[in-house]
Amino acid sequence: MSHDPSTDLIHHPYRPPEGFESPAIGVHKGSTVFFPNVAAMRSRSWKDKSAYTYGLHGTPTTFTLEERIATLEGGRHTLLTSSGLQAIMLVNLSLLRSGDEVLLPDNVYGPSRELAMHELARYGIGHRIYDPMGGAEALAAVITERTRLLWVEAAGSVTLEFPDLRGLVRAARERGVTVALDNTWGAGIAFRPFDLGEGLGVDVAIQALTKYPSGGGDVLMGSITTVERALHEQLMMTHSRFGIGVGANDAELVLRGLPSLALRYRAQDESARRIARWAESRPEIVQVLHPALAASPGHEHWRALCKGAAALVSLVFHERHEWPAVERFVDALRVFRLGYSWAGPVSLAVPYRLSAMRSIAPRWNGALVRLAIGLERTEDLIADLEQALAALGTD
Ligand SMILES: *Cc1c(COP(=O)(O)O)cnc(C)c1O
Repeated sequence: MSHDPSTDLIHHPYRPPEGFESPAIGVHKGSTVFFPNVAAMRSRSWKDKSAYTYGLHGTPTTFTLEERIATLEGGRHTLLTSSGLQAIMLVNLSLLRSGDEVLLPDNVYGPSRELAMHELARYGIGHRIYDPMGGAEALAAVITERTRLLWVEAAGSVTLEFPDLRGLVRAARERGVTVALDNTWGAGIAFRPFDLGEGLGVDVAIQALTKYPSGGGDVLMGSITTVERALHEQLMMTHSRFGIGVGANDAELVLRGLPSLALRYRAQDESARRIARWAESRPEIVQVLHPALAASPGHEHWRALCKGAAALVSLVFHERHEWPAVERFVDALRVFRLGYSWAGPVSLAVPYRLSAMRSIAPRWNGALVRLAIGLERTEDLIADLEQALAALGTD
C-alpha cells in the first residue's frame, strides 16, 4: 500500500542491517516503545531488563550505563537518577517511613543534611547527626530502636576526614541498620564499597555520576547500586513510581567518560597530592586536609582501605588571615576557577565557612578553601596558588 510521503516518512520500510559495532554506545531515544502485538505488550517485563516497554523503564543506552556502573561499584544492580542528590533522596524515601530515623555524619554532603531537615522531617522521618570520627562507639550511642538507615561518606565532604568505615558498617550491621554510602569520592576506584574486607560491605552505594564517571563538568546524573536483589527491587519500584528517568544524551556523555575514569582519577590524585604537600610547606596554611597526608584526620583508616585518593584538597588558613583576605586570595586565582562540583578538567576553588556547616564544633577556626584539582599541569596550578597567596596581604 502506498501512502502520502508525509506518512511514509513516519512509517518508512527501510531497516538498516544488524551488526553495527563501534566504541560508541548507541544513543537510543524514546518515550514510546513499539510492541509487535498485544501479547508482547502484555508479557514484556522491564523489571529484569529482558525487554523494553517505555522510555522511563529503560533503553539499550540506559541499561548499558546501569550495567557498567554496577561493574564500577562492584555491585550487581544499578538505577540511574537525574542527579547525585536525587539518588540520595530516593534511597531515603524508598527505605524510610514515618517514625523512622536516619543517621548522617556531621561532614555529610551539605544538601543531604538540608534534605533531612526540610523534606524528610515533613514526612515524619527524623535524623540524627553523628561524629564520623568517633568510630563504632560514637555511632552506637546515637542508634535507637527507630534507626533504620545509616549514611556514611569516605572521605567526608569539605573537611575530608576519613572514617573507620569497617567499624561503622559493623556497628550498623550488628543492630540491623541498613548502610548507604555516598561513594562519589571513592568513585569505585579508591576502594570496593561492597567488599571492605572482613566480610563487610555497604548495602547501597550512591554516586554523583556528575563527578568522576562523567569527568566533563557538563552533565548531572546519579546512581544507586546494590548487590542484594530484594533491596534493589524495593529501590527500583520507588524509582519507577516516582517517574525518575535520565535522558539518552546525558547517559551517552557518562558512557563516554567511563573508559578514561581510572586514568583521570589517578592523574588528579597524583596532582592533588603534590599540591597538598606543597601547601603543607606554606606558613599561611595551618592545616592541609587530604587523607593521604599523615596529619590529615583519619589518615590511618584511609591507608588501611584505599588504593587512591580523589582530586580534593582543603586548605585551612591561619587565623591571622581573616575572611576578607582569604576572599582576596580566592578572587586572585587565575587558573583555578570559582565554582561548585569537581572531577572535571578545570581546577576549582570554593571558600567554606565551616562554623555554619557543622553540628559538632570544627577543629579549626580559620577560613577554609576547598580546591578541586583538574587536569591542568600541576606546576601551573602551584604557580597560580603562589601568586594568589601574595594577595592575602598582611591585614
Ligand atoms: C556532588 C555531590 C553530590 C551530588 O551530586 P549532584 O549530581 O550535584 O546532585 C552528592 N554527594 C557528594 C559527595 C558530592 O560531591
